[in-house]
Amino acid sequence: MAKTDDVLLALSRTIPGCIRGVGSFQYRGKTYRLVDNFAASQHMKCNVCGNYPVFDVSVIRSEEGDKLNACNNCIDRITKRAVSGWFKTYRKKRENIIENRKYIDGLSSILAAYERTALSFQISSEDVEKLRTTFVQMCNGLNPRTEQKQLAECYFSYSVESLRVNKTE
Ligand SMILES: [Zn+2]
Repeated sequence: MAKTDDVLLALSRTIPGCIRGVGSFQYRGKTYRLVDNFAASQHMKCNVCGNYPVFDVSVIRSEEGDKLNACNNCIDRITKRAVSGWFKTYRKKRENIIENRKYIDGLSSILAAYERTALSFQISSEDVEKLRTTFVQMCNGLNPRTEQKQLAECYFSYSVESLRVNKTE
């Protein structure tokens, strides 16, 4: 499994905890719980305020089994928690991780080879620290800065180069 897939899996495992963390709340005299949150692929309506179309949908279910779709404003208001912000951050992180797949997988193998002292090129300990910081940052769903990307690209080209040299030897 590629490192990026591990990171995405670990991120997705934070969802149930967040949903549980919301706990139960009251809406129109009934006890509800949050059961799901997703980015709507088709136009949907908020069953609480009637807003249409809604792009982020939180699904809530009462103890009696009634299901309602709630928009971001409504879910935050009725749960009295920043539920929509949490899911927005989650989706943004996921998007960044997918976008940075090349860097996460590439740095993961360079850093692993460095640990095993199996790198075929020289790298200063200062640069290793920089690459490690970039790697951790991206695994946490943050985007690297341009100079961080450039440093990673530079070492990617070294590793491609050394593979090529090894093949022709
Ligand atoms: Zn609403």
